[in-house]
Amino acid sequence: MRAWVVAEPGPIGPGANELGPLELVDKPTPDPGAGELLVQIRACGVCRTDLHVAEGDLPVHKDRVVPGHEGVGTVEALGPEATGFAVGERVGIAWLRHTDGTCAYCRRGDENLCPNSRYTGWDADGCYAEYAVVPADFAYRLDVAIEDVALAPLLCAGIIGYRALARASLPEGGRLGLYGFGGSAHLCAQVALAQGARVHVLTRGAQAQRLALDLGAASAAGAYDTPPEPLDSAVLFAPVGDLVPVAMRALDRGGVLSVAGIHLSDIPALTYETELFYEKEIRSVTANTRADGRQFLEVAERHGVRATTHVYPLSQADRALRDLKAGRFDGAAVLVNDLS
Ligand SMILES: [Zn+2]
Ligand SMILES: [Zn+2]
Repeated sequence: MRAWVVAEPGPIGPGANELGPLELVDKPTPDPGAGELLVQIRACGVCRTDLHVAEGDLPVHKDRVVPGHEGVGTVEALGPEATGFAVGERVGIAWLRHTDGTCAYCRRGDENLCPNSRYTGWDADGCYAEYAVVPADFAYRLDVAIEDVALAPLLCAGIIGYRALARASLPEGGRLGLYGFGGSAHLCAQVALAQGARVHVLTRGAQAQRLALDLGAASAAGAYDTPPEPLDSAVLFAPVGDLVPVAMRALDRGGVLSVAGIHLSDIPALTYETELFYEKEIRSVTANTRADGRQFLEVAERHGVRATTHVYPLSQADRALRDLKAGRFDGAAVLVNDLS
């Protein structure tokens, strides 16, 4: 099969002809092992984490890994002992692909904190490929009435946005600030709006601000601007630590900032009086549980949550990542398999 691999992690250049960290190669189609499904990939969303893996912001976990963890495809074959799915069924391959099920965190329902967790497109080959394997226990059944392209970004961007919103403890009808407005934030905004929140979007880029207003945000302004009213909750989606004190100042007393990214540049020193006192809280968000994923997919179907997508052929995954880095599109990029 043909697949993209991260040959040598490093910066993805702005020039269209520059040789980047990704390489399109021929490699053996994977064999589904015990409990695994072999999936023919139809579409795969492009997540900012793919950029972090390609550029080396995240340490290498697997040499020449195939990135991509928002895969939608069709079950092609089942490995020994794999159950719960049938050949031909549509399934989703997401970020979390293994937990031990036995540690204290797993036992108390926090499998996202499992120290033995493994991730698609980082620890194991992902979905920027014609085929991928996934443990059946971690595959998502996709019996929702959402087509492949609109569905793919829900599998990470959507689920993480959903968990980040939950971590932000937004009160009923509350005032929510979203810092950064890419793939994850524009899905999170739709869930919050469906729940009756008033949403203020703080992001650079006129295109993203326009999308925010189109989706129903009460206001859209620059990332460092002050929102028009104090916030009960905020979610930081931009991987920019400098925005933490900015968001903390925008919170009302007792407000909560939830930091959604897996990678964040350093947070500058906080001023206690204006940025933390009055029981403001900062919380991080670490991956998600499978229960988060299943709940979110239900919520997405119920409320018509849809990704605004920009389609690229899978053969141009490197261009999609460059465009993501440069902020050239709003919403989320989705790769559609043109290799098979
Ligand atoms: Zn565990
Ligand atoms: Zn992701």
